[in-house]
Amino acid sequence: MEYLILGCGSAAMGAVRSILDIDNTAKITMVSHEFDPFYIKPAMIDFITSDLGKDRLIQKKTDIFPEESVNVVTGKRAIDILSSENMVVFSDRSTMKYSCLLIATGSKPIEHPALCKFSGHIFYINKFVDAQKFQKKAKTVKKALVVGRGIVGLEAVRALHKLGVETTYCVKSNMLWNLDVDGVDVDNIKKKLISEGINLYSDADILDILEPDENHYRVIMSDKQNFSYEMIVSALGLEPNMPFGAINSIAADRGILVGEDMRTNIPNIFAAGDCARVLDFKRGGYRINFGWLSAGSQGEIAGKNMAGHEDFYIPQDDDSFFLKLYGKKILERW
Ligand SMILES: Cc1cc2nc3c(=O)[nH]c(=O)nc-3n(C[C@H](O)[C@H](O)[C@H](O)COP(=O)(O)OP(=O)(O)OC[C@H]3O[C@@H](n4cnc5c(N)ncnc54)[C@H](O)[C@@H]3O)c2cc1C
Repeated sequence: MEYLILGCGSAAMGAVRSILDIDNTAKITMVSHEFDPFYIKPAMIDFITSDLGKDRLIQKKTDIFPEESVNVVTGKRAIDILSSENMVVFSDRSTMKYSCLLIATGSKPIEHPALCKFSGHIFYINKFVDAQKFQKKAKTVKKALVVGRGIVGLEAVRALHKLGVETTYCVKSNMLWNLDVDGVDVDNIKKKLISEGINLYSDADILDILEPDENHYRVIMSDKQNFSYEMIVSALGLEPNMPFGAINSIAADRGILVGEDMRTNIPNIFAAGDCARVLDFKRGGYRINFGWLSAGSQGEIAGKNMAGHEDFYIPQDDDSFFLKLYGKKILERW
């Protein structure tokens, strides 16, 4: 059986582990548009703050999958899936055939309308190269603005703060933290940020950004104030990343729709991790489960089913991103 896996993150690695356990004749190809694809994404912040070196963050394929049956292709971006031909199309116009396909392409940052037109100047933290660029820039600036929400915003603020950058966090009050997690609520996050000296800017949005010179940005706020920063970070959270064109036979609606077996509406195509919305038969409807651990478990189920088993992802009440967070608890990281 020829398995093609788009992605090398948590979901993809989970799937490969399961396939190899079941099918020792498997031929697996993993493809990533990144050049150093094997790393634990939540640990990128520790790389930015220099608490974790590149050699410890990035793993080699041979450390993870010594088996020769796993072929890893890096620096290749999938742009379309032609399901009627069992074929994936890449941005270099090459194609790959599959018997069974897993889409594990993760998520992408949500864009802010005022920041979009500046995207070349704005810093994100979604891939390892983003973390490298972020780190390099943060080491050269004194004042930065993070426009964000939720965990990604908070982690961006933490990274800058640890690097000694005076940081303003522009976040709508109701977006600072809106999940029900033991011991973590808006008040104690607010207290933490204030005690660490973060400038919280909660009640206005960004209208525009102007560039007085190549090192400064003038940010115009909706409350008529304006401020200067040397670095702007967009950390507004994540949305599923789906590498196929608008007209495609794979069912999607703000994420690739899959059943509890991680199968899409096309029998030999599966999806898992941040790119997928999984049927929640307990509560009804489809759910996104952002998070390193849930992506890994979904990938494992997908891998088993790709290799011919019949297994189901059973969403637990506590398996959402925030309750099963990979790494230290959110306020204990500072
Ligand atoms: C800043 C930040 C902090 C986080 N902190 C935490 C945390 O503390 N705890 C936690 O549990 N989770 C955290 N997360 C979320 C967690 O990292 C993700 O939920 C998890 O990585 C999802 O795994 P995945 O396999 O679905 O996707 P990813 O790990 O994102 O992997 C996606 C893979 O697909 C590849 N890819 C994407 N598009 C294409 C394409 N078109 N063609 C080819 N390859 C492609 C990428 O190169 C990558 O290899 C954090 C995320 C971020 C960004």
